[in-house]
Amino acid sequence: MYEGAIQDLIDELGRLPGVGPKSAQRIAFHILSAEQADVTRLATALRRVKEQVRFCRICFNVAEADECRICRDARRTDEVLCVVEEPKDVVAIERTGEFRGRYHVLGGAINPLEGVGPDNLRIRELMTRLSGGAVKELILATDPNTEGEATATYLALLVKPMGIAVTRLASGLPVGGDLEYADEITLGRAFEGRRALDV
Ligand SMILES: [Zn+2]
Repeated sequence: MYEGAIQDLIDELGRLPGVGPKSAQRIAFHILSAEQADVTRLATALRRVKEQVRFCRICFNVAEADECRICRDARRTDEVLCVVEEPKDVVAIERTGEFRGRYHVLGGAINPLEGVGPDNLRIRELMTRLSGGAVKELILATDPNTEGEATATYLALLVKPMGIAVTRLASGLPVGGDLEYADEITLGRAFEGRRALDV
């Protein structure tokens, strides 16, 4: 529709999740008319996120070093491990201020329709961590939707023989949604009211 650079930008923006063709066009023209300094800052942020951010070697959260801030924090307990799907879920739970344990980021949820099986997630790494023996409670904080529930059940069955207490967040979270959509208070309550998951 347009030529050269502006169309390239619209095309790239349109490939982002949640950005439709109209939004892509609006953002592209916004950038075109923005101050040079603002655009440079955006371009730098885009480049830095790929150059500097990596995944924590322990929990697979995003990190700017070998280990993330949470894994490096000696004041947190190793006895409670909270399993989440994505790094954004770590942020959501941290905002509640309810949790002082460690995390394990799976990198998604089991979703056969999209070809995501257990081998595509950081489940082997989770089992290795659990075999260390420090974890007394495993909180399964996968999303309250079909894939999240299936993943939680799968993990609970896998962990059962290890004798570790397995819990799931209390109900009250918006069903079918993402953990990140729950407000801090609701998520905090769901965390506090977590219950043993029997499988
Ligand atoms: Zn970490």
